[in-house]
Amino acid sequence: MNLEKIKNRLEKEREELVLIIESYKKEPEEFLKESVSSADEIADRYEYKQEIHLKKEALEERLKEIERALRKIEEGNYGICENCGQKIEDQRLKIDLSAILCRKCALK
Ligand SMILES: [Zn+2]
Repeated sequence: MNLEKIKNRLEKEREELVLIIESYKKEPEEFLKESVSSADEIADRYEYKQEIHLKKEALEERLKEIERALRKIEEGNYGICENCGQKIEDQRLKIDLSAILCRKCALK
């Protein structure tokens, strides 16, 4: 795969993630400021807040992976397994552009 293409795709995904994370940051607070009348509503809001929190964490985790992959491209060691130093299979990178381990090491 072409490194320039990979970089573009990673940068695009990063942009999208940043936008979604930003929107998650705003929403729950505004939502929770509204007055609540019933216990059910309070429970709903609590669940909603938890759900957003989990989603946000997953997205932030993904964002970190993407940033790490972009850094690797800059440093010229993209696609190299962090564990054994071998080239990561193209097949693996196609599935996850931010993979840092080759198939063998990932299975360990
Ligand atoms: Zn490896």
